[in-house]
Amino acid sequence: MNFFDDLKARLERFMQGRYGLDALSRALLYAALPALLLGALPYLGLLSLLAYAMLGWALFRILSTNFTGRRMENEKFLLLSQPARRRATELYNRFKNRDKYAYFSCPKCHAKLRVPKGVGEITVTCKMCGHKFDKRV
Ligand SMILES: [Zn+2]
Repeated sequence: MNFFDDLKARLERFMQGRYGLDALSRALLYAALPALLLGALPYLGLLSLLAYAMLGWALFRILSTNFTGRRMENEKFLLLSQPARRRATELYNRFKNRDKYAYFSCPKCHAKLRVPKGVGEITVTCKMCGHKFDKRV
């Protein structure tokens, strides 16, 4: 057994019965990194305090043995962050498919619509309100 296998086995033994990483802890760790870097700049020292608080909270959650409490916190976080996560996914997909589709809003109900690019003048029927309008894509 080499050094890293031994280290991995020790870490696995240490983490047995502990909550581990979840979405909230991961978000705290991701948020703490830029706060820590920005906190090093002049006049932004308070950000590093915030970063250390987030790191401490994430570490507390990862090492916690109170599974029920951590799960409830995580579920609350997922519920509250759902609109932002959905919007981020939407923007990511829109960027990923920017060559294939044109995106725009329905002039009547403002629903987000998508049509294949390069088809010329088309009549679009909004799937939310049924409004029909011409669009050049
Ligand atoms: Zn519509």
